[in-house]
Amino acid sequence: MECSKKVLISGAGLVGSLLAIAMKQRGHDVELYELRSDIRKDQSLIGKSINLIITAKGINPIINLGLWKTVKSIVTPVTGRMIHSKDANLTYQPYGKDETECNYSVSRAELNKLLMTEAEKSGVIIHFETGLKGLDLESKNAYFLNGTDKKYDLFLGTDGAGSPTREAILSELGPLASFNIEPLGSHYKELSMPSDNSGNYQMEKTALHIWPRGNHMLMALPNQDGSFTMTLYMPEKWYEDFNSPEKVSQYFLDNYADSIPLMPNYLEEYYKNPQGFLGCIRMSPWVYKDQVVLLGDAAHAIVPFFGQGMNCGFSDVQYLLDQLDLNSDDLHSSLNNYNKHQKLNGDAIADLSIENFTEMCEKVGDTEFLFKKRVEHIIEKTYPDIYRSRYGMVTYTLIPYHMAKEAGEIQSEILEELCKDLKNAEDVDLAKAKELIEGKFSPWLQENKLSIERFRG
Ligand SMILES: Cc1cc2nc3c(=O)[nH]c(=O)nc-3n(C[C@H](O)[C@H](O)[C@H](O)COP(=O)(O)OP(=O)(O)OC[C@H]3O[C@@H](n4cnc5c(N)ncnc54)[C@H](O)[C@@H]3O)c2cc1C
Repeated sequence: MECSKKVLISGAGLVGSLLAIAMKQRGHDVELYELRSDIRKDQSLIGKSINLIITAKGINPIINLGLWKTVKSIVTPVTGRMIHSKDANLTYQPYGKDETECNYSVSRAELNKLLMTEAEKSGVIIHFETGLKGLDLESKNAYFLNGTDKKYDLFLGTDGAGSPTREAILSELGPLASFNIEPLGSHYKELSMPSDNSGNYQMEKTALHIWPRGNHMLMALPNQDGSFTMTLYMPEKWYEDFNSPEKVSQYFLDNYADSIPLMPNYLEEYYKNPQGFLGCIRMSPWVYKDQVVLLGDAAHAIVPFFGQGMNCGFSDVQYLLDQLDLNSDDLHSSLNNYNKHQKLNGDAIADLSIENFTEMCEKVGDTEFLFKKRVEHIIEKTYPDIYRSRYGMVTYTLIPYHMAKEAGEIQSEILEELCKDLKNAEDVDLAKAKELIEGKFSPWLQENKLSIERFRG
């Protein structure tokens, strides 16, 4: 490291806490500022949190910072999707090419608490209830809502979707910056499925459960204590339309009847829990001169349907660290490269996540889609060394999101050709599949110097 810098970070969420640990490990003088009070002490938050899926690109920096053993103790493995049809039929779709490939479900609040504690252990000072108000980019001074201020050498904005750090860059750059919010038109609400009386799971515990119903759905992810955290996704307007308990229970009866006996508190929770906004935020640039950088949702809030928002934020941290290493801590080159590469990635995962919303709501119940998925699963299992699905690339490898998106287009062509006139997925012509993979996909991998090998840390 060239020399120790005064590094201020705004936002002690998942990305900010991880980043603080990393910058401290590099020898910088790090202070972390957080708008909220300390969630580790807030009793009102106990048991309230969405669950997240953590995958390769998120696990990578956690391993590199020496924290995976600790984080692994609070996760639950999930190996595939369990689709619940309206008449309560279940279809299981494995995620990976075999059972050893899995995602990990974790409570956002528990992970956040763990990372804050690790940040403090490493010597980072966290100032709670000290939200950022604004930045004076000329004098490199940060102003806080409690009236204090602080000078910095480097300011890192990890203050989430409503980022005041982003606001500071936007107002400084004016028309030289771009900013766009794309609302999805659907909102989410948290519900819960408790464990049974003996503390056991009421549904298959190694699956992410989905009740896909067109433009709306219910989802469930397991917790370690036998319960599931449920998320309801519905068009924004329906929340207004369902203005009585009768309408809500009728909606559940029509769509998620098999879940009702397992969710004794769903009506109460429906009214008690807040309704969350869903949308994508795109912004450019993510870097201002050599002094301010945006990471995580502050740079790229996305819809949650690929389960990659935090993972992408963690990959921002890793990419920034890699650039600092490669450029011997030269900020100018490191930040320029960070901006160029991660912006491309952020846009790609935003696109893929919007596409996956349609997939999860509509296509996971669609026969043609399921057929193609089955064929793809067969060829991925048969040729694990030369083929890897787009989902697999995003989730189990460190291949950048924008490259996985590009690969998906080639793979669609291959699947289209293999599924033409095919009646049974199991009868897929494996020789032809190999020929197509070697003719279209392998050269693309070679050209881009990419390995589809699973990330094992
Ligand atoms: C329903 C749902 C499901 C999701 N599922 C997944 C998933 O499965 N996998 C996945 O990878 N991602 C998932 N995500 C996305 C993930 O939650 C976010 O991408 C992630 O939390 C972003 O982390 P962050 O640290 O950038 O921002 P945040 O977690 O939003 O943290 C920002 C922090 O900044 C603080 N802050 C705000 N304003 C100020 C201020 N003025 N000054 C100082 N601090 C401030 C906030 O209090 C907060 O602590 C999901 C999101 C939703 C809504």
